[in-house]
Amino acid sequence: MSAPTRTELDRTRFFIDGGWVDPTGSESHQALDAATEEPLGTAALGTAADIDAAVGAARRALDEGPWGRTTADERAEVMIRFADALAARGEATSTLVTRENGMPIALSTAFNGAAPAGLLQMYAAMVQQTALEEVRQSQAGATLVRREPVGVVGAITPWNYPQTLAMMKIAPALAAGCTIVLKPSPETALDSYVFADAALEAGLPPGVLNIVLAGREAGSALVAHPGVDKIAFTGSTAAGRIIGAECGRQIKRATLELGGKSASIVLEDADLDVFVAGLAGASYMNNSQTCTTQARILAPRSRYEEVVEALAEHTRALRVGNPLDPTVEIGPMASQTHLERVLGYIDVARQDGARLVAGGGRPASEDRGWFVEPTVFADVANTDRIAREEVFGPVLTVTPYDGDDEAVRLANDSEYGLGGSVWTADEQRGVDIARRVRTGTIGVNYYQLDLGSPFGGMKASGIGRELGPEALSNYLEYKSIYASAAFLP
Ligand code: NAD
Repeated sequence: MSAPTRTELDRTRFFIDGGWVDPTGSESHQALDAATEEPLGTAALGTAADIDAAVGAARRALDEGPWGRTTADERAEVMIRFADALAARGEATSTLVTRENGMPIALSTAFNGAAPAGLLQMYAAMVQQTALEEVRQSQAGATLVRREPVGVVGAITPWNYPQTLAMMKIAPALAAGCTIVLKPSPETALDSYVFADAALEAGLPPGVLNIVLAGREAGSALVAHPGVDKIAFTGSTAAGRIIGAECGRQIKRATLELGGKSASIVLEDADLDVFVAGLAGASYMNNSQTCTTQARILAPRSRYEEVVEALAEHTRALRVGNPLDPTVEIGPMASQTHLERVLGYIDVARQDGARLVAGGGRPASEDRGWFVEPTVFADVANTDRIAREEVFGPVLTVTPYDGDDEAVRLANDSEYGLGGSVWTADEQRGVDIARRVRTGTIGVNYYQLDLGSPFGGMKASGIGRELGPEALSNYLEYKSIYASAAFLP
């Protein structure tokens, strides 16, 4: 192991009210490179008092500052400057996130380098085209129907796509005229402060965006804070249940983007070359540290062994290594704790009698870093633990089925409903099957996120949708002002 601590990446203060503020507590997080375990930098961890200061700043910026009363055009102008400042930092941000959580660099360039600026541009344009006021004729006169900002937003994000998932909240919130407190995950401790650097350069007014890195306890303080009007949460279903319960108690608005255990249905007419090529987007994207990972492969009994062999062969050939190398397909897990969790699930599958056909341990080629071999288990029943619980790592299972009805039944036999895919030579048949799967997103012969369309989960995968125009509505409240007919055009 080489090189001591890199101090230029240290983030020892929080971004509150347009400036850098010292923490009230003394806890910090040492960030390590997921591939080399070398120190990347240190970041202060916030307390409930730091969260309170950030919420106070967001409240003032909304209630007293101009942001809550700006026009859509004024907000769009600032958002475009913010986008430009982020785009200029795109390459450095992509590299940083790859080192933090192991994301292959090409994917990181798209999700951490380009997407945040793209989302700001998309919502800036969208809000300019959205009617935020409309006059309707009423029985007594006229009603002015307004869409107002929902208020102060508490955004809580996970570590797997830290930049995109944060910006999927920040961009529509800014467009709507909300102010924000972002609480990122300690596992990706450093990259979210790039938003602060860019916001300062872009001249985002003080208090409109505040960032406090913190753990769960301070996260709970953000959820419970009476000054917060809405929580936008992405993370595990376990945390989502706790957060949703508190928001329900307070009648606080909440969107919850949670876990998944999605299915990939291979129909008997599928081209297996198309299927294995599509695994990069459907099942192995970001080392399978993706909420929509299609980890349950459902294979027709008539071609079962053929599917198992194609999948195993493809998986054994995947290139594992340092994700900064553009030829690497599978990088490390984001933390030692997460690696142990994934290895634990491999043991569970073994003990439950699943047949290991690829991977199954740590790669011999890597002597440091939190690597795990991409792994495939065949002969898994849909009732087995490995088929029911989210692993969040590259561990796929194969389960046989007889006929389309059983394939759909197995796909739907899950507490989750987030992603999915259907593989077939007959695209119409694929779309018909996709219609029957209870899931928020599903692809036919490919799986790729569309920023312009709603994204989110059914069942225990969440409540509400992000992306597309649907997400803007999450940050707007309706108000009807009853007035005289003088309002009518
Ligand atoms: P996590 O739930 O442990 O943590 C997510 C965030 O919530 C972190 O910032 C954490 O500090 C915070 N948090 C945890 N408990 C909290 C509480 N009680 N109150 C307030 N804040 C709390 O999840 P993770 O391990 O960081 O991320 C992985 C999970 O996220 C997986 O389940 C994955 O499927 C899910 N995810 C979902 C989506 C989606 O869009 N549906 C996208 C990405 C990840």
